[in-house]
Amino acid sequence: MRFDRLRLNGFKSFVDPTDLVIREGLTGVVGPNGCGKSNLLEALRWVMGENRPTAMRGEGMEDVIFAGTARRSARAHAEVVLTVDNRDRLAPAGFNGDDQFDIVRRITRDAGSAYKIGGKDVRARDVQMLFADASTGAHSPALVRQGQISELISAKPRSRRRILEEAAGISGLYQRRHEAELKLNAAESNLTRVEDTLDQLS
Ligand code: ATP
Repeated sequence: MRFDRLRLNGFKSFVDPTDLVIREGLTGVVGPNGCGKSNLLEALRWVMGENRPTAMRGEGMEDVIFAGTARRSARAHAEVVLTVDNRDRLAPAGFNGDDQFDIVRRITRDAGSAYKIGGKDVRARDVQMLFADASTGAHSPALVRQGQISELISAKPRSRRRILEEAAGISGLYQRRHEAELKLNAAESNLTRVEDTLDQLS
């Protein structure tokens, strides 16, 4: 799955709408310290459904909203739009009709995040699954944060295995298995209740 464009609006230091066009080949982002290079990578991870404030270098998820400066007031919301090239039809069924589609995540203060895929309202899980199945999720080893290499070297085997699983595109299967197990447990406890009721009636 190729990314064509990343659009940021009110996200961290990107208070005004900003487009990063990602063309075929290598794209480099250069700039002085503190100009927002890492914020671009965080925007990419965030639009893919990242929900850990620590991964976004913040204390709460609302810390991604432009916080204001001496000259500009804080914003009430932030939005990131990722335009994906889907000509190879890697996106799962239901979203793979077009050659290109947008994934949008918007956060509003006190109202949390809302997501859209191709203009349709979806849940965070739908976005996370879409990328997990395409092996490019928010935890993908393709997105390397500062300090991550040294973390990887000292990581425990279990954490290293997670990285390999993400790269192999099977992390979506684990999530589905977990959800299936939760449903199974709920069904089993319902069954126990039915049996208890039947016992009382007989
Ligand atoms: P370096 O080369 O030092 O790693 P960088 O180019 O990667 O720097 P970033 O870390 O992406 O820079 O950007 C940091 C800047 O983003 C800081 O100036 C910080 O004040 C600003 N910033 C972070 N969060 C917000 C926010 N919520 N609102 C406004 N500005 C923010």
